[in-house]
Amino acid sequence: MFSKQLKSLKEENLFREIKNRTSPQGPRIIIGGEEYINFSSNDYLGLANHPDLIRASQRAMEKFGFGSGASRLLCGGSSLHEELEKKTAKFKGTESALVFNSGYAANTGIIPVIAGEGDAIFSDELNHASIIDGCRLSRAKTYVYKHKDTEQLERFLKMSDGKQKIVVTDSVFSMDGDIAPLKRIHEICKEHNAILYIDDAHATGVLGNGRGALSYLGIKPYPWIIQMGTFSKALGSFGAFVAGSKDTIDWIINTARSFMFSTALPPCVIGASIASLDLVEKNSALIDRLWANRDKTVKGMSKLGYNLTDSETPIIPLKSETVEDALEMSRYLFKKGIVVPAIRPPTVKEPRIRITVTAAHTDGDIDRLIETLNSFSSR
Ligand SMILES: *Cc1c(COP(=O)(O)O)cnc(C)c1O
Repeated sequence: MFSKQLKSLKEENLFREIKNRTSPQGPRIIIGGEEYINFSSNDYLGLANHPDLIRASQRAMEKFGFGSGASRLLCGGSSLHEELEKKTAKFKGTESALVFNSGYAANTGIIPVIAGEGDAIFSDELNHASIIDGCRLSRAKTYVYKHKDTEQLERFLKMSDGKQKIVVTDSVFSMDGDIAPLKRIHEICKEHNAILYIDDAHATGVLGNGRGALSYLGIKPYPWIIQMGTFSKALGSFGAFVAGSKDTIDWIINTARSFMFSTALPPCVIGASIASLDLVEKNSALIDRLWANRDKTVKGMSKLGYNLTDSETPIIPLKSETVEDALEMSRYLFKKGIVVPAIRPPTVKEPRIRITVTAAHTDGDIDRLIETLNSFSSR
């Protein structure tokens, strides 16, 4: 039925295929019976296969069963959901927090209830797809400012006659690995009475002792700042959260459609998220290891002559001129036993490979990556 469209995707090298593991997620994974060193996951702290998460999940399942049976508002939630929300609010320094089924559901559910017709959203051009979709669903006028361009953001804010103004940004940009200029952005929001909505998906468990970008930059979680983040990346679990003032969270509970009309996450998932937050709070060595590995990788790659000035986090992209170049590099690495994905439109405008380093990689894994990148450029 879609053969014409599929053919043209293939001709443009934009056709995607799913690769399935037969092993847990981790620094080494098995695909098609072969072991690969894995630099493609967002499992930054290597917690996806951690025994504490697995045990907590099993305990939750034994106590609460598997399925949750209904949405939160219809008693689909458990006391674990409440415990996780209290813990999350404490972790983020906010009055209140709410669990969402995924980061995608959070952004597409929350943005349309904090901005509507007559309001204005100001969104960084490199924001995650779920933010873009949330903006579309909101029916608010959306101003897309150039990546991290706070001067253009200010001009747009001055220009706009939106009733309520909302600035939306990733704190760590998922495909570039750089950090939003949140100190400046939060000052601008204050001056213009705008709500600041940040997506901390790649900062949670990574920046500010794991507490995220605001903590990292020393910005207070004022009631007009809404922080969304995920349990599915560095925290190795699944699902998402939003943290803010009690009023904000009550409003979201009462209006966000992806919260109201979707079955609650199973308790075994929530139990794992609780265990993960506990681990991150008690174990700063994990985050230190992540950053040491990140620095080792960046140093090694810089020595090969790659210009990595944009990346400030464990997300390290290598941009290429064409989609074909990115694919060639990714395929070469795969042949040599290393998984590094090529990222293509529509995910990004500029094609690239995206290397993600985790706390679970060994020095040997990183050395192999550097050697293989070197052999690629001198092949
Ligand atoms: C991954 C991601 C999401 C979506 O989170 P899921 O829990 O995977 O749905 C949202 N925002 C950003 C910036 C992300 O990187």
